[in-house]
Amino acid sequence: MRDLIVRSIVLLVAVTMLVNTTTNTSQAVIEENPLLAKWEGPYGGIPPFDRVQIPLFKPALEAAMAEQIAEIQRIAKDPAPPDFENTIVALERSGSTLERVSTLYGVWGATMSSPDYQAVQREMAPRLAAFNDQITQNEALFKRIEAVYNSPAKAKLNSEQQRLAWLYYTNFVRAGARLSPEAKKRLSEINQQLAGLFTKFGQNVLAEETNQFIVLKIEEELAGLPQSLRDAAAAAAETKKQPGTWVIMNTRSSIDPFLTYSDRRDLREKAWRMFVNRGDNGGELDNNAIITEILQLRAERAKLLGYQTHAHWRLENSMAKTPEKAMELMEAVWKPAVARVHEEVADMQALADKEGAKIKIEPWDYRYYMEKVRKAKYDLDQNEIKPYLQLEKLREGIFWVAGELFNFNFTPATNVPVAHPDIRVWEVTDKTTKKHIGLWYFDPYARSGKRSGAWMNAYRTQERVNGEITTIVSNNSNFVKGKPGEPVLISWDDATTMFHEFGHALHGLNSNVTYPSLSGTAVARDYVEFPSQLLEHWLSTPEVLQRFALHYQTGKPIPQELVDKIKRSATFNQGFATVEYLSAALVDMKLHLAGDRKIDPDAFERETLAQLGMPKEIVMRHRTPHFLHIFSGDSYSAGYYSYLWSDVLTADAFGTFVEGKGPYDRAVAERLRKHVFSIGNTVDPAEAYRAFRGRDPKVDALMKKRGFATKS
Ligand SMILES: [Zn+2]
Repeated sequence: MRDLIVRSIVLLVAVTMLVNTTTNTSQAVIEENPLLAKWEGPYGGIPPFDRVQIPLFKPALEAAMAEQIAEIQRIAKDPAPPDFENTIVALERSGSTLERVSTLYGVWGATMSSPDYQAVQREMAPRLAAFNDQITQNEALFKRIEAVYNSPAKAKLNSEQQRLAWLYYTNFVRAGARLSPEAKKRLSEINQQLAGLFTKFGQNVLAEETNQFIVLKIEEELAGLPQSLRDAAAAAAETKKQPGTWVIMNTRSSIDPFLTYSDRRDLREKAWRMFVNRGDNGGELDNNAIITEILQLRAERAKLLGYQTHAHWRLENSMAKTPEKAMELMEAVWKPAVARVHEEVADMQALADKEGAKIKIEPWDYRYYMEKVRKAKYDLDQNEIKPYLQLEKLREGIFWVAGELFNFNFTPATNVPVAHPDIRVWEVTDKTTKKHIGLWYFDPYARSGKRSGAWMNAYRTQERVNGEITTIVSNNSNFVKGKPGEPVLISWDDATTMFHEFGHALHGLNSNVTYPSLSGTAVARDYVEFPSQLLEHWLSTPEVLQRFALHYQTGKPIPQELVDKIKRSATFNQGFATVEYLSAALVDMKLHLAGDRKIDPDAFERETLAQLGMPKEIVMRHRTPHFLHIFSGDSYSAGYYSYLWSDVLTADAFGTFVEGKGPYDRAVAERLRKHVFSIGNTVDPAEAYRAFRGRDPKVDALMKKRGFATKS
């Protein structure tokens, strides 16, 4: 899963607290609870990860919420007539304590979760939801925001300020600020119920990923697995207390390689079934009933807010604007992608027949035969690439790219506390001026209590409403930690993901705005994957490969011949990748367009896929019962299409470099910084894109990138 964590609605209103107005009670709490304290130390203050104790979270969240409510009351009851400064800027300055506490709380939830943490989470999720509603439903506060938004004085504000006023007004209206008191009450009940259900959904998936695994007891069961996977499985057996065996974990980073290499078709089927049935196994951890309830509550909420469906509500402030527009793109790509899958399956079937396998390709055969076809067609073996992809060398590679494109320099920061000893921190500065830009935390390894996949997070956003505040960002992934002193080798896909997440980090680090709510990655959901997907393109540049794709034993760069093979096979398997993803995106959208009828998720998924003509050899990348993007929170709901939407921009934007002097064209990079990476949400994304590209995006580049036929 490639994604990022953006500031949730909890952090809708942000920034530094006014210390002198803090009540005596909360001052007392601050002294006792280190999570409430201002961040101290170098770099404008750093998060006190060394002082976190789980029992501190609940009182810290409570005190921080109380403090923000008091701040909000002061703004709402200000006797002075509402203006931009005393209302919108004051809101931007409120809630800084809660923002800091939420950062620590969120990092623990994503990377250090434990049963005692989860108990706090179950209790606090509905309360945080109710707290948000208390702000957005504050009548006097909304009246002031509305007055600022509608005032003739607005025209005198600069464009960033006008956009901020628009954002507050829109967010409040979208959150129900104009509803009747009864409707507001119901809305808040719905939000609290949803928060509880999202938490339960996520915890169920984590439990199924942790509790279920496959134990391989004899060597024959490892047939086909390369040494690195055998080592990883042996290491996993240690953590699962199954000494002398090999364990295949129920996570994507374990299952995908197993399905790719295991010669044992029976075990592939077993592993595949375990993985695709997460959350769908009956009993306590089954997510189906939770999904039905979430969908009904979302539909009811959309109606209350005056929208046709949840999808219409969610997309209103996206770049696509309407579900119809998003569906149009998905449908345009779906047909050529499915056609490509049929070709891919035919190739695999032919190969299996030639081998005398006497099978029909099933979903648990796809990755396995795909790899064989790759070898046959392109003479390319993924295992041949891996020795050149050392995690730490690639990290140096992304730093180098950031230096070339954005003039950034990275230096280890060893004086910074971290949540776990595996996490390392770098200071980012400008190469020329040496000016401090921000901090980059890197948490690369899997461990229990850490969610699967890879993501970026912002611990603090850049802003200057209270002096120059620099950003703190992190990249997180789940590589299996190697033996001490041995380099961690990763796959080409994982290297691509590394560049992707670093793209999000650069989006944060380049931010150059005034107001925190408009900063860094706080952009429309279907625009936020554009900078990150764009950065993926730099992995395959010769400059990076020759310097950083070095063989872990010989130190020699990856041979040109191998690079050429990678290039030739660039569109290989795009049918699978696109259909796997797009089927999930289409089911997501259709679930949220279905209105308030009671939905049986399994039946809905089956019927929708049948209608779409889903190839039976492929399963959705995230089946409904464990689709964390859309059911562990609202943020990607009716929004999984965003990756495709952003990729249209990505493919089209990379064309600017190709048409120029290539990927390291300084002039194009400067335009990219100016119009995309530095502006956050201060400009409408469609306008910003036009400023960068000189025109609107075209879908052709995407079709070409994936090797699909376009209608000419
Ligand atoms: Zn992403």
